[in-house]
Amino acid sequence: MVPRILLLGGTSEASALAKRLAARLAAHIADHAGLDVVLSLAGRTEHPAPQPVPVRVGGFGGAAGLADYLKAERIAAVVDATHPYAARMSFNAAQACAAAGVPLLALRRGPWMPVAGDRWREVADVPAAVAALGDAPRRVFLALGRNEVRAFEAALQHAYLVRSVDPVLPPLAVPQAQYVLGRGPFGEADDRALLEAHRIDTIVAKNSGGAATYGKMAAARALGIEVLLIARPAIPAVPAVETPAEAEAWLLHQLGAHGAVSSTGDTGLSAERGA
Ligand code: NAP
Repeated sequence: MVPRILLLGGTSEASALAKRLAARLAAHIADHAGLDVVLSLAGRTEHPAPQPVPVRVGGFGGAAGLADYLKAERIAAVVDATHPYAARMSFNAAQACAAAGVPLLALRRGPWMPVAGDRWREVADVPAAVAALGDAPRRVFLALGRNEVRAFEAALQHAYLVRSVDPVLPPLAVPQAQYVLGRGPFGEADDRALLEAHRIDTIVAKNSGGAATYGKMAAARALGIEVLLIARPAIPAVPAVETPAEAEAWLLHQLGAHGAVSSTGDTGLSAERGA
């Protein structure tokens, strides 16, 4: 039987891992018929970036729905490469994999750590960020999801700059808001130019980790801008790695160890025929 891998994605790391696995197959390191990878997206963005492996879109129906999917699709291993703030999906994955007896690995970036010159203030959640802005008018860059920025309609005194992949519709019910569309990665020079052009004095962001969205953090440091960082949510304690290369190595080991993939002497993913 062909070992099937489920990648829970929506991040650059998931796409990078999908690319690594696809490259292995394309290079014939593995038997092309010997591995099946499906990348799962929640369906939040209107035009998701093209992926080098088959994609499925939409929720599974909670942990029970995911457990059913794992069994029905005969999934041999799951890599949870969702965003560090996608906690519900991660808990569902942990519960479903335990119930279905499927090995699970989290591919998760570590948080950014402050360095000299950073002006960071951690807040518990988005409503706490709204409150932390205070009464005096500020010029605020919201580097959050388009569904999360609605909370700032409670603070009408600030001017907002919102960056999102898809338009914020309807626009925020605030007197001063501007919008830029963009999909990362975002570089420091571009983010610095954006912050200066809009005379931003405060950023509200998540501690996403990784390089793709660090540009604004580096730019904020250079410009002396305060950053309100939403605290990371609790996530389940499952085996975890930080890089796509480590996740790929784990998959090779797992599938080999579970007898689904034959060893070819290299680290290929070729499957045992008729297994
Ligand atoms: P969430 O709150 O943890 O998940 C809510 C529900 O969305 C889940 O219960 C699941 O529905 C569905 N879902 C989430 N990720 C999915 C996936 N990869 N494939 C299929 N269904 C998925 O997640 P979220 O924070 O809304 O994030 C949604 C997606 O956006 C994730 O793929 C995540 O990697 C990506 N993303 C999130 C953030 C962020 O800041 N949260 C940032 C960048 C990218 P069911 O219960 O019906 O299965």
